Amino acid sequence: MYDIVIVGAGVVGCAIARELSKYDLKICLLEKEDDVSTGASKANSGIVHGGYAAKYGTLKGKLCVKGNAMFEKLNQELNFGYRNTGALVIGFDENDEKTIKGLYENGLKIGCDDLEIIGADRIREIEPYINEEVKVALYAKSVGVASPYEMTIALAENAIKNGVKLKLDSAVTGITKEGDHFKVKTENEEIESRYIINAAGLYSDMIANMVGIYDFEIHPRRGQYILFGKDQRYLVNTVYSRFLQKKERVFLLPPPIMVTL
Ligand SMILES: Cc1cc2nc3c(=O)[nH]c(=O)nc-3n(C[C@H](O)[C@H](O)[C@H](O)COP(=O)(O)OP(=O)(O)OC[C@H]3O[C@@H](n4cnc5c(N)ncnc54)[C@H](O)[C@@H]3O)c2cc1C
Repeated sequence: MYDIVIVGAGVVGCAIARELSKYDLKICLLEKEDDVSTGASKANSGIVHGGYAAKYGTLKGKLCVKGNAMFEKLNQELNFGYRNTGALVIGFDENDEKTIKGLYENGLKIGCDDLEIIGADRIREIEPYINEEVKVALYAKSVGVASPYEMTIALAENAIKNGVKLKLDSAVTGITKEGDHFKVKTENEEIESRYIINAAGLYSDMIANMVGIYDFEIHPRRGQYILFGKDQRYLVNTVYSRFLQKKERVFLLPPPIMVTL
């Protein structure tokens, strides 16, 4: 009998497994694929957000600020690759400036202490190739980048070293309650556990349904990326344009580079 079964070995499941492996608990991490980090955690932008864009009062905002502050130490411990780059939310006119001020004030309320609104000269010091029409920006100094899959793998390896049992190719197909514990059915076996943690990402509503919880549904969406070559060293920071009609105007330099942000 396990104390805890965690369903899903993405960054969330692996981080939970690593944290709980510090305690005297018997833990099993179940993953339906043949490796960890095969879901959203393998292919995201790797941005360690600052929190200013999350709605004030939400758990997301609170955890974003708290989580951001943990990255330096976490990377020292696990060496997955993290860099504090900073980020600019750029604006072109007075309307954009109003939106940027709104983000700044929202960020202050959430607890961000790294924010500054900067003008054209300072923007060009930070991003020399930015479009000359960019007049104003929110500079979020705590934003960084990390390698999301290396981070997930490092968390999993550390959890395993601390005694967590990782079972791959083990899709959870059903859960039943038996007295004071659960029986978790996978493709291969039945596993007993006192607690279950649902970290199944896009499939977490299906896992919740297995124990009679129907109060949320996941609706996945698709996006697009343009990848820059390493020789196209135009950007120093992460640059966001929240003003969609101007999304193709981030850079000054030819050849014209389009970014969808
Ligand atoms: C295009 C894109 C860009 C993003 N950019 C960023 C960013 O820059 N910064 C940021 O912080 N976030 C970003 N995100 C969000 C981030 O990727 C996710 O929030 C994060 O990866 C979610 O991790 P997870 O562990 O919850 O999910 P996942 O990584 O999807 O892990 C869930 C795991 O559960 C497993 N699973 C599912 N069902 C079962 C089952 N029945 N039995 C066993 N295992 C199961 C899956 O196989 C999967 O491995 C981005 C997301 C996308 C899509």
